Amino acid sequence: MSLLRFKALESAMRRPAVKVTPPSTKISDFYGVNVFDKSKMKEFLSKEAFQSVMSSVELGIPVDRTMADQIAAGLKSWSMSKGVTHYSHWFQPLTGSTAEKHDSFFEPTVDGKSIEKFSGDALVQQEPDASSFPNGGIRSTFEARGYTAWDPSSPAFIMESGSGLTLCIPTVFVSYTGEALDFKAPLLKALNSLDKAATAVCQYFDKSVTKVNASLGIEQEYFVVDEDLFYARPDLVSTGRTLFGHESARNQQLEDHYFGSIPERVYAYMLDFETEALKLGIPLKTRHNEVAPGQFECAPIYEEINLAIDHNQLLMDLMDKVARRHKLKVLLHEKPFAGVNGSGKHNNWSLITNTGKNLLSPGKTPKNNLMFLTFFVNTIKAVYNHADLLRSSIASVNNDHRLGANEAPPAIISIFLGEQLNDVLDEIESSHVVNRKKKEMSGALGLNIPKIPQILLDNTDRNRTSPFAFTGNKFEFRAVGSSANSANPMTVLNAIVAEQLNLFRQDVEKLVKKGEKKDVAIMKIIRQYIKESKNIRFEGNGYSDEWAAEAEKRGLSNIKTTPKALDVLISEQTAELYTKQHIFTERELHARHEIFLENYTKKIQIESRIMGDLVTSQIIPVALNYQTKLVENVRGLKELGLNGTSTDSQMATITQIAERVNIIQKAVNEMIEERKKANALTDAREMAIAYDEKVKSFFETIRYNVDKLELIIDDAQWPLPKFRELLFIK
Ligand code: ADP
Ligand code: MG
Repeated sequence: MSLLRFKALESAMRRPAVKVTPPSTKISDFYGVNVFDKSKMKEFLSKEAFQSVMSSVELGIPVDRTMADQIAAGLKSWSMSKGVTHYSHWFQPLTGSTAEKHDSFFEPTVDGKSIEKFSGDALVQQEPDASSFPNGGIRSTFEARGYTAWDPSSPAFIMESGSGLTLCIPTVFVSYTGEALDFKAPLLKALNSLDKAATAVCQYFDKSVTKVNASLGIEQEYFVVDEDLFYARPDLVSTGRTLFGHESARNQQLEDHYFGSIPERVYAYMLDFETEALKLGIPLKTRHNEVAPGQFECAPIYEEINLAIDHNQLLMDLMDKVARRHKLKVLLHEKPFAGVNGSGKHNNWSLITNTGKNLLSPGKTPKNNLMFLTFFVNTIKAVYNHADLLRSSIASVNNDHRLGANEAPPAIISIFLGEQLNDVLDEIESSHVVNRKKKEMSGALGLNIPKIPQILLDNTDRNRTSPFAFTGNKFEFRAVGSSANSANPMTVLNAIVAEQLNLFRQDVEKLVKKGEKKDVAIMKIIRQYIKESKNIRFEGNGYSDEWAAEAEKRGLSNIKTTPKALDVLISEQTAELYTKQHIFTERELHARHEIFLENYTKKIQIESRIMGDLVTSQIIPVALNYQTKLVENVRGLKELGLNGTSTDSQMATITQIAERVNIIQKAVNEMIEERKKANALTDAREMAIAYDEKVKSFFETIRYNVDKLELIIDDAQWPLPKFRELLFIK
């Protein structure tokens, strides 16, 4: 019975580290070799074709058909020169992972021969059989087709897999009626909207700014376990997390894993996937251990958001593929093990102009600081206005285990600024905006802009308990889940900041029309926003109960579960935000709402089934088996005439097993009944809530009792690899 566990343990303990040799000791020798980047475009494209791609990337001018043919031809020559045989549109459906559909360049000709062909049509558009992707009722059967469309702003790349090379073309995925069926299409729209709004505001300060790009650096946390141990855990295989497992006696309490030395097998694995990532132009820079045993982190240098997200999606895929070569399994789940830290994906976000200025970086002069304060305060105000929408963007069945648990930011959205900037805002709030005469100005603008310390970057205090923290020259959204596609939270963040910047301009214009000087008007509006959004600022311990109570007093939401967090997607406020900026239609929002609810329901359903299966087919049989042994033992002792205290402890264990098995069995039966009831519901929201509040409510009892059994049953018979084995053996 428990053979699989011990076989797995044996092979896991014997496994040597795989030797990994990067193509060169200099990363610059192989960085981006598999990307059709600017330099390759220059080599393989005509001047006009190159220009056409560039104006599409920089100015959003569509590539016309003849140019598309030329670009496709260039892409084909480059990729065939590298041994590529197939191409694929690469997209990000609402399942959360990435999708590909491969076609070969090969095309038969009329004379019975064949050629290698890749046309502009094939580059620009493809029709994957899309009916099996989630669409939230958008595509009824008669319009069951969706299509993928080329996104020239993210360069094509070559994916290497064991058996061949594929040219991948990043695309958006939309229905025939034009609705977005993916994460990328709305993100691109939000980024465009933000660019326009931010550029217009920049014009107040600096006429040379003609474009604003949002940047993103994603820190990715993950766990690594041995592959054989992984496959010996059906719960890990099917749900990505352990549904049972008693805490290991040694956990993270010694705090010795963080920044400790990296185990050799994992080190080889990191080097391997980093090399693959670097070849794909993913600028990975940082690697280290994380807090929990078996937990690690990697981070690239930040990039333009669309690219950063494509790269993160690609990276997660690579991490999974490369792990196989090392007989390891990477766990991107937000909470694979109860009792130790979960994993997040910190989203470091800032705004950078075409002139190279980071708008969230405090400047040296008061004028620059006014610009900084404008973007800084508008971001705070945007988050204040749409905190619930931001909360919804990180809601998932996995992340529900993390948010509000004591090692991750709470489900309450608040902003941490650090003492210095907090003081600056307080000072502005309490002081008057005076428009002194020019001669009275002491070098400054005369607006009472408090001095902003220059060395913020190095001395911002790090409050790890805040979901949304300012860290010197960027905001860090920490509540994003480790397996999530960041496009969803980043669409929200960019859209709400864009909306807010547009409102800001309106407010400033109003004052200017009334005769106020522009800088004074700006300062007055900033001051007003600081006052209005004050409640979202919190500098204290986000993990504490006091904060939950205080947040409630302040009127901030604390929405703990996904089904309810998603409500805001179909609110009036959200519809207005998105339709005004042409990011989503109401139909798309309703579709997304439904898709996310269904996804939630399905995942709990799977967990519940696996839990039932494991209990019935593995845990209870093993428990009864062991109990029988004890019964025989007691009977034997009694036959020898040994009674009373000599059988006491066995008797206690026998009773305990009987009681726990009964509790577990009863809970599993009741859970199945609740599942049946929930499945009969027709409303997606009601069903998700039933799964959350009814079905899921049995998980804790079942788990608690199974974990107690794990402690008392003979280790040699326990079927599932234990936490100490999963976390420490590699
Ligand atoms: P930590 O938050 O652990 O101190 P870093 O400061 O090194 O880490 O940054 C973490 C991530 O933030 C990296 O991906 C980094 O490239 C990114 N980052 C740094 N500056 C910016 C910025 N201005 N905009 C967006 N991301 C940034
Ligand atoms: Mg960080």
